[in-house]
Amino acid sequence: MAYVINDDCIACGSCIDECPVEAISEGDIYSINADACTDCGTCADTCPSEAIHPA
Ligand code: SF4
Ligand code: SF4
Repeated sequence: MAYVINDDCIACGSCIDECPVEAISEGDIYSINADACTDCGTCADTCPSEAIHPA
């Protein structure tokens, strides 16, 4: 299990500094490294676009 970022991402950058395991990468749409994500949910709580959901 891991969280995933969908097309609603506006690349605001809010989530990347919140991840305790640095699993989030920048891009036109940000992405989550499923192998690193620990499913904590912190990033989803910070996303203004509600673009992050459990897979
Ligand atoms: Fe990082 Fe937690 Fe989001 Fe996974 S759910 S990407 S570990 S902040
Ligand atoms: Fe994209 Fe949401 Fe992360 Fe902002 S907080 S970069 S909108 S996934």
